Amino acid sequence: MHTEILAVRAAGLSLGHGQAVVATSLERQGDARPLRSRVAPLLQGALRRRGLVVQSGPLQAVPPSDAKGPVLVAATYTPHGGTEQTAAVAVAPQDRAARAAVQSALRELEDALRSRAVLLASPRSFCAGVDRAIEIVERVLAQEDAPVYVRKQIVHNVHVVRDLERRGAVFVDELDEVPPAATVVFSAHGVSPDVRAAADRRELRVIDATCPLVTKVHAEARRFAGRGDTVVFIGHAGHEETEGTLGEAPDRMVLVESVADVAALQVPDPTRVSYLTQTTLAVDETTEVIKALRERFPALRAPHSEDICYATTNRQEALRAVAADSDLVFVVGSVNSSNSQRLVELSTRQGTPAQLIDDASEVDPRWLREAATVGLTAGASAPPRLVEQVIDSLAGLGAIHVEEREVTQENVQFALPRAVRAK
Ligand code: SF4
Repeated sequence: MHTEILAVRAAGLSLGHGQAVVATSLERQGDARPLRSRVAPLLQGALRRRGLVVQSGPLQAVPPSDAKGPVLVAATYTPHGGTEQTAAVAVAPQDRAARAAVQSALRELEDALRSRAVLLASPRSFCAGVDRAIEIVERVLAQEDAPVYVRKQIVHNVHVVRDLERRGAVFVDELDEVPPAATVVFSAHGVSPDVRAAADRRELRVIDATCPLVTKVHAEARRFAGRGDTVVFIGHAGHEETEGTLGEAPDRMVLVESVADVAALQVPDPTRVSYLTQTTLAVDETTEVIKALRERFPALRAPHSEDICYATTNRQEALRAVAADSDLVFVVGSVNSSNSQRLVELSTRQGTPAQLIDDASEVDPRWLREAATVGLTAGASAPPRLVEQVIDSLAGLGAIHVEEREVTQENVQFALPRAVRAK
């Protein structure tokens, strides 16, 4: 990488100590057009990890003598097999610490330069339940002038939530934060009957974005409990879906998370036990738990069809198709996304290290030094554009060859609730 110190021309740009602006594109004098910086997200993340407050935007470089404003640390480079790239950051003129941080982040990028293969798992990213939940909020926002409240994160993804917040959605943890008679959307993960009753008491207009596949498990919980079974729910404690489903029959349902929990189970009648599962579990681990349940309760009754949903199963199968041939796997998804976490664990169990990243800015270039083949997937709540962003950033580090490995095609669609359907 060839690094230069330049000045930057940008109207009103003033930077204090510890602040930086990463160029999303850089225009130099004499350039026919600005050069887009593909590695800008990687650089933003690297600088944030070094404690800087980072923004980003297009920058224009001028010779140092022409301006007195911020200093521009700019690098141009042509990675092996790739095309000319740029990486540039503006910092305050006297901020030596920030300048050192930029130089160190650029060295980190330089160490990660190489051509790579990218194995793209398919299916990945949005499922039908997430698509539907987001569309429901968008439609309610378009219908209503008053604030639209959403109980909990509509889906477990920080980018989706931020985007809807910018468009006017107000996310709350509990219904007592919603003014009486306001409109509230229930998230894709479902709610317990207690929450529905609380909404009725507050006379809220409820739009339910619960995924129909979660609703199916709720219905099974009511039915199995109603026939007198102890219903063992295999899931993760504290997850919203678990709380909602257990709330259907709190006196007759018990939660197990592992084979060890099965061994400790006490039930009133071992001949009347059935099980249900959270929709986003690891298929292989859940099979082990069900096997342990069958051994303890030979008369165990199962749901009519799998509760682990098609989207979870498909994304795990697709991950298997790429993990074994990858040096490193990236799973795009948020930390509270259950199905994304299961993808990370599955890759690790397959012997390939995996990193959960919210977006490309969370890719640490040091992970990439030895990685000639990168597997890439996204959890069911992660927007597809974030996967594209990761691919683009990798392309800023050298030529990439992208191979998509599709294990199946998805064509599932769920109808919208009547309240938001177009008239
Ligand atoms: S992951 Fe499965 S259960 Fe969850 S919203 Fe998507 S389709 Fe529905």
